[in-house]
Amino acid sequence: MSAGAIRVVKETGDERIANARLTVDLSALRHNYVTLRKLAKNAETGAVVKADGYGLGMEMVAPALAKAGCKRFFVATTAEGTALRPLVGDADIFVLSGCDSTACAAVQGEASLIPVLQSPGAIRLWAGHWEKFSTKMPCAIMVDTGMNRLGLNRSEALSFSRQNARDHLVSPVLVMSHLACADEPASKMNRRQLESFQEIAAAFEGVDSSLANSAGILLGEEYHFDLTRPGIALYGGEAINGVANPMRPVGVLEARILQIRRGRTGETVSYGGATALKRETDIAVVGTGYADGYHRAASAGGVPLRSAIPQFGHGWIAGHKVPMLGRVTMDQTMFDITDLAPGSVKSGDWIELFGRNIPLDDVARAAGTIGYELLTSQRHRGLRRYIVTDDES
Ligand SMILES: *Cc1c(COP(=O)(O)O)cnc(C)c1O
Repeated sequence: MSAGAIRVVKETGDERIANARLTVDLSALRHNYVTLRKLAKNAETGAVVKADGYGLGMEMVAPALAKAGCKRFFVATTAEGTALRPLVGDADIFVLSGCDSTACAAVQGEASLIPVLQSPGAIRLWAGHWEKFSTKMPCAIMVDTGMNRLGLNRSEALSFSRQNARDHLVSPVLVMSHLACADEPASKMNRRQLESFQEIAAAFEGVDSSLANSAGILLGEEYHFDLTRPGIALYGGEAINGVANPMRPVGVLEARILQIRRGRTGETVSYGGATALKRETDIAVVGTGYADGYHRAASAGGVPLRSAIPQFGHGWIAGHKVPMLGRVTMDQTMFDITDLAPGSVKSGDWIELFGRNIPLDDVARAAGTIGYELLTSQRHRGLRRYIVTDDES
């Protein structure tokens, strides 16, 4: 296969009848993993594949990351962990939401999952469960250094580290914390959390430590510790809002043009009639809307509650960026294609809603949200295909 050629490795749905098409570029995913590894070259690079691989399909992204060399994966829930197990062989799987019942401990034990324990009670539960079997199974310890989400607080963590060193209650293989403001490099919170975590990591001598998500990796080497936990950057999203994104886009969302119609000056487009046409307009009506995960809040012409955002979604077709018209509806969205060369677009063609030409994060900003939410909103209503673009098998 020649360089640059595209090969489809898996497809779900029927291209002939699909109105939405999500293409996932596994070569770009691999490239992003390798880039993140280079950015944190003294640490191991893990991968966060929770929420179905940030909406792009864990079933395909996890094996691709394993193939790229990833040996430590993070999911949010026990169910995600059991689904991941057959996809990644004997790689470590950490469950970020922990383990809060004996049933949970049993299921995690069967799939050899590693819970991220968040409280002294959860540690006792995990220890008690395995005590019956006269064994100790690995676990991770989450310490809260400023998020106030999940985790032992500083004094609980320090006293647990001493007690565990003495009595060996459980076998922690990783101590971790999570940054609250990593996407704002100038925030003082970053250094506060770093210093707090340095103290904790030192108390857990001999145990691997992990602090950085995608944005944390970009904060610099001090933040890398033994293991990094990137999510969004793997999938091509912006880790730091508004900073040039060194990652390749992984997900490309396209919509089918269902009809091209001519709107007259003074007519309005879509619900609420909020967008009035100032000229004769060629309108491309495309078969994707908010039920496909293309957020209504990205609408042109103002949507109640977000009209203060002076930006709205664009599409990309025939080499041009074209503006949205009116509100995104459940199943359709309209675009202004008047300025394209006559005959360059016809119904049945695909228009890009985000991906290579329209950055994911531009659409997210238009919708008043972040790329994470846009990606994890993607639905399986149309065609989903996985491609490789480099020379790889
Ligand atoms: C989701 C998550 C990550 C990944 O964060 P990104 O910003 O997507 O890189 C890392 N660590 C924890 C604890 C998480 O919940």
